Amino acid sequence: MSVTITWFGHNCWSIETGGKTVLLDPFLDESPTAPVKAADVRADFMLVSHGHFDHISDAVPIAQRTGATVLTNFEVGQWLVKQGMDEEKVVGMNPGGGCRQPFGHVKFTIAHHSSSLPDGSYGGVPGGFLLTLGEARVYFACDTALFLDMKLIGAGGLDLAVVPIGDLFTMGPEDSIDAIKMLNPRRVAPCHYNTWPPIEQDAAAWAGQVRSHTAAEPIVLAPGEKITF
Ligand SMILES: [Zn+2]
Repeated sequence: MSVTITWFGHNCWSIETGGKTVLLDPFLDESPTAPVKAADVRADFMLVSHGHFDHISDAVPIAQRTGATVLTNFEVGQWLVKQGMDEEKVVGMNPGGGCRQPFGHVKFTIAHHSSSLPDGSYGGVPGGFLLTLGEARVYFACDTALFLDMKLIGAGGLDLAVVPIGDLFTMGPEDSIDAIKMLNPRRVAPCHYNTWPPIEQDAAAWAGQVRSHTAAEPIVLAPGEKITF
């Protein structure tokens, strides 16, 4: 089963596998770098890592238009229901928990970050996602600091890891190199950078550091570009 993963800028990704489209952290209409609008994307499922606007802002309209099921942390899930989402279309998770879905297995992993919702509501704890898609294992670290348990996340082998490199709100390029060493993925893609000036980074320089210091193949995409494996 092949997997195609398209970057829509920031931490928004579209994962196509097994005839399903899974949209991660929908932030499109207000994103300075998104190549598509919320009205134009497909979604059978959505993954939302935490409650910050730059990860959730388009979730409700996309879910209402597409009927997608949203997997997120428990408190963000409850908030989405209050915003008008159908309760049966929300799967509330917590770190360490996993569930099987028609496109594969989803595990909600720890992340060191915060998670308030756009209206100030409590947003539970943030997370990342470890996906098993057929034979492929893909890890989206989402917004997080470096943490030692990345060793455990990578222990089963990873075909792709996606890590933030923007610094300021998440780990930066230097810590991401340590993260990649611990995750030990075959390929690694950067995200959560160059969306706004405070998180500008040189992705080509980062890729050079990845090649010099890790065994992973760096894949630097422009918004709209995709990886297939
Ligand atoms: Zn963010």
